[in-house]
Amino acid sequence: MEQLKIFAPATIANVSCGFDVLGLALDTVGDEMIIKKVAKKGVTITKIIGQNLPLETHKNVAGVAALALLSETNSEFGFEIEINKRIKPGSGIGSSAASSAGAVWAINELLGKPFNTTDLVRFAMEGECLATGVPHADNVAPALFGGFTLVRSYQPLDIISIHTPNELFATVIHPQIEVKTSDAREILKTTVSLKDAIKQWGNVGGLISGLYTEDYDLIGRSLEDHIIEPIRSILIPAFDAVKQQSLNAGALGCGISGSGPSIFALSKGEATAKKVAEAMKSVYEKVGIDYDIHVSKVNKQGIKIL
Ligand code: ADP
Repeated sequence: MEQLKIFAPATIANVSCGFDVLGLALDTVGDEMIIKKVAKKGVTITKIIGQNLPLETHKNVAGVAALALLSETNSEFGFEIEINKRIKPGSGIGSSAASSAGAVWAINELLGKPFNTTDLVRFAMEGECLATGVPHADNVAPALFGGFTLVRSYQPLDIISIHTPNELFATVIHPQIEVKTSDAREILKTTVSLKDAIKQWGNVGGLISGLYTEDYDLIGRSLEDHIIEPIRSILIPAFDAVKQQSLNAGALGCGISGSGPSIFALSKGEATAKKVAEAMKSVYEKVGIDYDIHVSKVNKQGIKIL
């Protein structure tokens, strides 16, 4: 096995109540990557299709994550990475995370799996650090584990893979505007009121319980964010209308994907998720904003070999 072609999924971080700790993987949206084991040591990005991103190893998240992994091995080999970028950078669905996670997952396979999945999250976080300045795990963890994940702790890194019900579908609309992750972080307050914290941890507990018991109503009731969404939603055009129309169309819940500008909704079943997509589209068509839209099952597997 000298070469792997893989699918590295897009991800939704935060999932309303779980700022910086919860995430989920998508099934039909993601990057494709080819990773080759070669005699020449080091990491080379040979080709990027679809987006204008740096080929220099130290400037590309895939290169940085791959080097982080290799620094903990005595590998005799090097690796060449080709990326077919299907996720637009800056969309809020983990574009950089997919490339970082894909690179380390494939290299680990090609080396005979010396590392466990939590180690791979740790390496992929180095890529996230390049993209956003913060080594966060809420996108790379679901990309690598699949399904829903919880970052219980960063020190030590403790990632919990959460049971994911079969009929859970996501609808994601990406308005074609730019929201810089750094701006989306800067506008947040640094303190939280006890009243809001109580509501928030009630919802995190409710969401986890709802996922394990496959209680879709409880999942819906728990998809509330009293801390981040009221502030960040101001950066997203027609957020309140998209949310209201999604809920009217039958979504269990709706919120900001990562740091935006994408908005996600979760639904029980594909038919409802498609209705939600129509409802979301109609809002942006009325206000004249271009968008990309995706309907996807929640991906339980994570990265896949193609
Ligand atoms: P989001 O999660 O909101 O989609 P990203 O995580 O895509 O945002 O962050 C994108 C940033 O990472 C951009 O500044 C981009 O130039 C940089 N970057 C470097 N390498 C890559 C890569 N392989 N894929 C995507 N973004 C990359």
